[in-house]
Amino acid sequence: MSASSFDFDLFVIGGGSGGVRAARMAAQRGARVGLAETLGADGLGGTCVNVGCIPKKLYSYAAHYHEAFEESRGFGWEGEAPTLNWATLKANRAREIGRLNGVYGNLLRGSGVTVFEAFARITGAHGISLATLNADGSAGHQSFTAKHILIATGGTPHVPHFVGREHVITSNDIFDLEPFPQRLVVVGGGYIACEFASIFNGLGAQVTQLYRGEQVLRGFDDEIRHFVAAEMVKAGVDLHLDAGVVDVRKTDEGLRVTCEGGAVLTADAVLYATGRVPNTQGLGLEAVGVAQGAKGEVIVNGHYQTNVPSIFAVGDVTSRVQLTPVALGEAMVVVDQLFGPASGKAARTMGYDFIPTAVFTHPSIGTVGYSEAQAREKFGEVTIFRSEFKALKHTLSGRTERTLMKLVVETKTDRVVGLHMVGADAGEIVQGFAVAMKAGATKAIFDSTIGIHPTAAEEFVTMREAVRN
Ligand code: FAD
Ligand code: NDP
Repeated sequence: MSASSFDFDLFVIGGGSGGVRAARMAAQRGARVGLAETLGADGLGGTCVNVGCIPKKLYSYAAHYHEAFEESRGFGWEGEAPTLNWATLKANRAREIGRLNGVYGNLLRGSGVTVFEAFARITGAHGISLATLNADGSAGHQSFTAKHILIATGGTPHVPHFVGREHVITSNDIFDLEPFPQRLVVVGGGYIACEFASIFNGLGAQVTQLYRGEQVLRGFDDEIRHFVAAEMVKAGVDLHLDAGVVDVRKTDEGLRVTCEGGAVLTADAVLYATGRVPNTQGLGLEAVGVAQGAKGEVIVNGHYQTNVPSIFAVGDVTSRVQLTPVALGEAMVVVDQLFGPASGKAARTMGYDFIPTAVFTHPSIGTVGYSEAQAREKFGEVTIFRSEFKALKHTLSGRTERTLMKLVVETKTDRVVGLHMVGADAGEIVQGFAVAMKAGATKAIFDSTIGIHPTAAEEFVTMREAVRN
């Protein structure tokens, strides 16, 4: 079949971060593009927009007001602190998410992408079948051919098997929970568990976090993990480490969570944030022969191409780095490969080292590059610079929160290979430093950079004495 005899040049499955970006950019290059999203117009934007980054950050802002009202007293503000109207927060969030869904729809349509509200299944190297709903509510069905197919179906929360599994909720449910959970148990120690423990603690819930290991946020720099955990506890999260759950039972007093070791907790809601699995069920991958990993993730090569040459995959469905900017970056690389770069631009590439990331705990984490332990393993000798202090704001706020900043420098080359922070606005601060680190900045360049005073960020360019090497 020649390219023009296909119905589409590119068919994208999934209207989330990666899918929307790929569809839009391919259409802007003149390709004929179709996109299927199970949830239709309301789902455009995917996890990040609907049940991920955006509503999470909005709730994090809401939670920060709690401490801001308390802190304001030290700055002379007086009077009753306002209380949270959960219904208002939920309604305002839903309105904003609806607006964003509309923006995504307009962007796609404006670029000429044909959007289908349908669950898509791959029927062959170039075949897609869509399960749709007819106007009368009956099940419909459409089939198309495409020169290239892009799988961008994301992931979904994974809850392990245990007695009472049906009583627990996931991050998909938490945003619209009714009523507000006065007592919340959070199970897990990753990004989502830590973020929601902090957020609901800030919103006024009594939060108990149960993590099975010796410290939360496995994979992050050890000092950062311990520091943020201690700050979360100081802020009010009741964190239990080495704490497994045996079962969850419904009682008149609430949900009864029995922990290994016999401790029993009663809660209004139990949030399981125990990782995510790729959305590949029912996609037809086995029939077409697309290779998958142990969790069902789509296996791709360095060009995001599966073992079936016309089928590509990006984002969470590949179970690699599960972050929106990574899905966006991967999508743009695929489009440049298939349809050429934008005029006057070089074809994009993706590098997986020095991906900056933030965990929106309270206080937040910002990090880019290698942890101290990873750097020692990769580079051998490293020099560590570290600064811990009370932020200027807290000299009057009455809060005991502390900030930690840390640099990991490869001793031989003087290159800064790890930059980590726990403190207010960590993500905002670390983003800029990530550019310097991608460019290979050395500690000498950090040292020769003039600080912005008075900020917390200036500490990164004024750390003079190594704490160890
Ligand atoms: P998704 O955005 O998940 O999109 C996949 C889409 O495909 C979905 O809309 C789904 O309905 C659709 N779909 C699935 N199967 C089919 C099918 N067969 N047919 C048609 N459509 C289908 N990342 C950050 O960078 N920063 C953050 O702060 C952040 N916070 C997060 C908070 C939470 C609670 C969660 C859960 C995630 C967060 N993430 C964050 C991760 C981020 O949301 C994901 O990495 C990102 O959304 C992945 O994009 P994607 O395109 O791979 O998939
Ligand atoms: P993570 O993989 O980050 O964390 C999962 C947590 O659950 C880990 O602490 C893990 O423990 C624990 N766990 C796994 N299985 C079990 C089990 N059977 N019983 C008890 N605990 C278990 O996943 P998340 O769900 O938190 O988030 C998914 C991804 O989404 C993140 O990795 C991140 O990429 C992305 N995300 C990004 C955010 C951001 O950028 N700010 C925010 C939210 C999500 P252990 O470590 O011991 O394996």
